[in-house]
Amino acid sequence: MKQNETSWNIPHPEDDDNIELSNVLIDEIGDNHIAASTDTPMKADAFKLTDDEKIAIIENHFAAIMDTLGLNLADDSLRGTPKRVAKMYVQEIFSGLNPANRPAVTLFENKYKYNQMLVEKNITFYSNCEHHFVPIYGKAHIGYISSGKVIGLSKLNRFVQYFAKRPQVQERLSVQIGKELQHILQTEDVAVVIDALHLCVSSRGVNDTSASTVTAFYGGKFKEETTKQEFLRYLELKPEA
Ligand SMILES: [Zn+2]
Repeated sequence: MKQNETSWNIPHPEDDDNIELSNVLIDEIGDNHIAASTDTPMKADAFKLTDDEKIAIIENHFAAIMDTLGLNLADDSLRGTPKRVAKMYVQEIFSGLNPANRPAVTLFENKYKYNQMLVEKNITFYSNCEHHFVPIYGKAHIGYISSGKVIGLSKLNRFVQYFAKRPQVQERLSVQIGKELQHILQTEDVAVVIDALHLCVSSRGVNDTSASTVTAFYGGKFKEETTKQEFLRYLELKPEA
């Protein structure tokens, strides 16, 4: 069984399947950045449209948002913005929603360093908060104990970027990266620590410009204190309580 230690503070409306999330609860989820699932919530027909069709639709919608805000779309500087934003959403910052963009993986045999911890730290990533659609950015740190299989270090980086390029919450990002690496590397022994800044916290809302958020995923041997401590020593971070 895949393990994770990330706790999910999911509010449970009294056990009544028919209760819909009230607006109050929906606001609370957004304000507190709570995710309800480790999978990105996708529609069943999420890829019925081509990327070009999505860009055309988003362009129209984004133009409507700008128009509603009172911006003059005939202005030379604003004219291209809806198309630019639509392309950026589909082809860049949300391209990780599409499984077709999942990085290809080649595993290598690693007979000589079998059983050793491998750590790649300070992987810079840019994501976006799914509650406010403003950036989350920071560093991801990954450790794993090889089952005899290794992947190129650049692939660890690419998987971080792939899952970052979705509307995200940081806990889910940690878990998605961790579970994917457990699957690819054929071991439970994977750790992911993410230290990130949320612009929805720093640039609006409570306007706290110094708060960073740390989330962790520990699987297999990384749940054991000695292994976790060794990993965190490499990162020079204090363990979570
Ligand atoms: Zn947010």
